[in-house]
Amino acid sequence: MVDRSMELVPAILHVDMDAFFASVELLDHPELAGRPVIVGGTGGRGVVASCTYEARRYGVRSAMPMFRARELCPNAVFLDGRHARYGEVSTQLHEMFLSVTPLVEPIGLDEAFLDVTGSRRLLGSPLEIARTLRDRIAAELSLRCSVGVGRSKLIAKLASEAAKPTVSPEAVEVGPGVRVVEPGDELDFLHALPIEALWGVGPATAKRLHGLGVKTVGDIARVGEAVLVRQLGRSHGAHLAALAMGHDPSPVVAGREAKSIGHEQTFARDVTEIGELRAKLVAMSDAVAEVLAREGLAGRTVTLKVRFGDFTTLTRSHTLDLPLDAGAAIAAVAEALLEAVDLVAGVRLLGVSLSGLGPANAARQLSFGFEEAERAERGAALQISWEEVARALAAIRTRFGKRAVGPVSTLDERAAPEWWGPSSGD
Ligand SMILES: [Mg+2]
Repeated sequence: MVDRSMELVPAILHVDMDAFFASVELLDHPELAGRPVIVGGTGGRGVVASCTYEARRYGVRSAMPMFRARELCPNAVFLDGRHARYGEVSTQLHEMFLSVTPLVEPIGLDEAFLDVTGSRRLLGSPLEIARTLRDRIAAELSLRCSVGVGRSKLIAKLASEAAKPTVSPEAVEVGPGVRVVEPGDELDFLHALPIEALWGVGPATAKRLHGLGVKTVGDIARVGEAVLVRQLGRSHGAHLAALAMGHDPSPVVAGREAKSIGHEQTFARDVTEIGELRAKLVAMSDAVAEVLAREGLAGRTVTLKVRFGDFTTLTRSHTLDLPLDAGAAIAAVAEALLEAVDLVAGVRLLGVSLSGLGPANAARQLSFGFEEAERAERGAALQISWEEVARALAAIRTRFGKRAVGPVSTLDERAAPEWWGPSSGD
């Protein structure tokens, strides 16, 4: 077959490791080869962070609650994540990416976009670059990845998905490993995909579109922007219409990393009841902790964001000496920040985020789950961690006073963090 990938301008690669955390575990525990291996929070409310393709044969997927994974595949090997180790491998991986092009945009620990337009003269066609990189990762790290190649990040990302192994209850089929979408073939490729493949089509949007008989990306393109805008609102509708036509002008931005990870929620009615807000903070903090676990990160600054019924917005932060990665700890600090906020005006939106992010490191196996606290070997570390949280709570109460009444003290929107949802699994 003729390699037309030289004509791709820009030429963008999306490299995505296959079952990254679980594959690193197999690397370090070769005796587990061929067995279903599931990595994730093994506490009562943990989720699957990564699983081998053998586990996927039983229907196990990333981000699934761990209890469900245990029901589907009780004979699997269940492992707590070792994020320091994954971070180590990720560093080696990113060095390899940087040997191909300086334009590397990492997405989490195990994915990146590479703009190789300027590397072609030196390293060959984008297809050759993708194959060589994949072979090097296999040879030097003993890990597999899938690579998508196209003229945009959207196409490259969907192409890497198409290059992945496929799983049925009977078997795991090896994927092509590299998939190039050649110039001019973008719409044929895109339009055959289910709508769920597009960024921005979550369960609610999918349900809505299914109701209109829209099942494929091609259907979205045929329905047209006017109908989408009517059904989904102006910005969301226009965005999907553009994506369905293959329009994704976003460039590969070198070195961009998460500055903060957070969740926020707008309520159907303004809330004044602190108990209700506390419960929301716990749920949101758990969601933040899940993303942190998946990305192998911890953070030192907890920020609470409160928007009142009159749309004034307040943010309050506290920075700890020790990075946090556990939902319960993040929630405790956020609740202390909330205690000092006057809620009389009613809360329209509540958000929690963590910034000052860095790799969760080995010295600090802090999994803060209360169940884990019972484990003797973690007792000492937990003690230190909770002391740190208790210190933070005391400092916050000293600084803001408990239930201080008064005008909004911070109205700086620029200080508001960039909000992240969970990433798309592994
Ligand atoms: Mg992956």
